[in-house]
Amino acid sequence: MQPEMTSSVTFTLISPSGFPILFTVRDMEEEQLLDKIGVLELRLADEGYTPGKQSYGGGYPKKEKKIVGDCPKCSGKLIEATKKDGSTFKKCENNKWDFQLKKNVGSCDFIEWGEPKLSPEAAMQEASPAQEKLIKEKFPFLWEDGMTKAQASQVISSNMSK
Ligand SMILES: [Zn+2]
Repeated sequence: MQPEMTSSVTFTLISPSGFPILFTVRDMEEEQLLDKIGVLELRLADEGYTPGKQSYGGGYPKKEKKIVGDCPKCSGKLIEATKKDGSTFKKCENNKWDFQLKKNVGSCDFIEWGEPKLSPEAAMQEASPAQEKLIKEKFPFLWEDGMTKAQASQVISSNMSK
């Protein structure tokens, strides 16, 4: 069994022919690791490797924030953003969602949900359990058995912003 390597450093590099590569150096001692890195950096530069850009967040393209007007509730700017499912929403710049507290910690709570973009096939499918739960909890009088995803989305998007 190999001794456990305790320290590691990963280089993000572009190879001489342009391929992005990750290169990890491990050592048991941090001191020795630092020495290795120094030697390695010179060697890599010599061989035509260039530093690659570090990318975070799983490769999603950075979302552009689009200002689409003024907030109807305060004097803030209204920002349009796109969710992963392709639907858009507009929210006040002073509406700040705290992902840890799971609540708005900003000074304004304005948010307006846009039309979700569903494929025609998805739209005809039965409402998802999450949609059913949400509608039954928030608008029980609007829930109908056999509702499609599209109908459920419609109910949610047209009622959540009120
Ligand atoms: Zn506002």
